[in-house]
Amino acid sequence: MATVPSVSFEFFPPRSVQASFKLWDTVQALAPLRPRFVSVTYGAGGTTRKLTHEAVDAINASTDLTVAAHLTCVDASREETLEIARSYAKAGVTDIVALRGDPPKGVDSFTPHPEGFRDTCELIEGLREAGDFTIRVGAYPDPHPEATREGQDVEWLKRKIDAGATEAITQFFFEADTFFRFRDACAKAGIDAPIIPGILPIENWKNTRRFATACGARLPAWLGEAFEAAERDGRQDLLATALATELSSELIDGGVDKLHFYTLNRPHLTRDVCHALGVTQDSVLEDVA
Ligand code: FAD
Repeated sequence: MATVPSVSFEFFPPRSVQASFKLWDTVQALAPLRPRFVSVTYGAGGTTRKLTHEAVDAINASTDLTVAAHLTCVDASREETLEIARSYAKAGVTDIVALRGDPPKGVDSFTPHPEGFRDTCELIEGLREAGDFTIRVGAYPDPHPEATREGQDVEWLKRKIDAGATEAITQFFFEADTFFRFRDACAKAGIDAPIIPGILPIENWKNTRRFATACGARLPAWLGEAFEAAERDGRQDLLATALATELSSELIDGGVDKLHFYTLNRPHLTRDVCHALGVTQDSVLEDVA
C-alpha cells in the first residue's frame, strides 16, 4: 500500500476583512487533515509584518495547529527582527521559517538594512539565541535566480542547516526528477536534514507562469500546453488536481513521506489532492487509533 504522507500548508496573511474570512475558511477546511504545521508568509519587502504577526497569533490562539511564522531579513534591524521572534516565543509560537526574503516591488536586489541581518545564516544564528525555535528554511531544486554557479544552492543550504535549521521546504517545481536530483546532490553534500517538497496546485496558470519566471522555477513546455488546452475547455481545476496528485505520488514512490502545499488561501485544490493521496480525516483518525 502506498505511504500516506504527512502534510503541511502555507497561507498568506489577509489584507482586508474579506480576505480574513477567506483565510479562516481555508484554515477550517484544511485543519481536519491534521497538518504537521501550517505557515504564514511575510510579504515581500517586509510589507506584511504586522498582518503576518496578527494572522499567526490568531491561528495559534484559536486552533490547536502548530503555526510557523515566516520571518525575513528585509528592511528591519536585527533588534526589530529579534523582537518579533521574542514576541512569538512569548505567545507560544515555536516554529519559524527563516528566509533572507525578496526585496520590495521595483527593487532588483536584496540590500541588507544597515543594522540588519546580512543573510539567512545570520538570521538563523540570531533566532537560536532569541528562543527555542524549530527553524525551517527555503531550498531550491531549480536554481535560485541569484545562484551564480551550479551547486551554489546546495552549498548554501548546507550552510543554513549547519547554522541551526532543522528542515528545508523547497520552492515549487513541476517534475519529480527535479526534486530527486536536488535531494541526491544534498545527500552527497552531507545534508541529512529532511527536505520537504513544496507543491503548488495550479489555481491560475497565468499567475503561476509569472511567479515561476520570477523565482526561477522551470516551466516544462508540456505544462503550458496542457493548461492552455484545459482553459479552452474550462477544466483547469481537474487538470491542476490531477497534476499535483501525480507529482506527489511520484515523490512518494521515490521515498518522500512529507509534503508542503502552497495553498494560496484557496483550500479546495489542496484538499482534493490530499484526499486523492489518502490524507483524509479518517486516515488521521486511523493513525491515532
Ligand atoms: P537564501 O537561501 O539565503 O539564498 C537564496 C540563494 O541565493 C542561495 O541558495 C544561494 O544560491 C544564493 N545566496 C544567497 N546568499 C548567499 C551567500 N551569502 N553566499 C552564497 N550564496 C548565497 N519571501 C518572502 O519575502 N516572504 C516569505 O514569506 C517567503 N516564504 C518563502 C517560503 C519558502 C518555502 C521559499 C522556498 C521561499 C520563500 N520566499 C519568501 C522567497 C524567498 O525570500 C526568496 O527566494 C529569496 O530570494 C531567498 O530567500 P532564502 O532565505 O531562501 O535565501
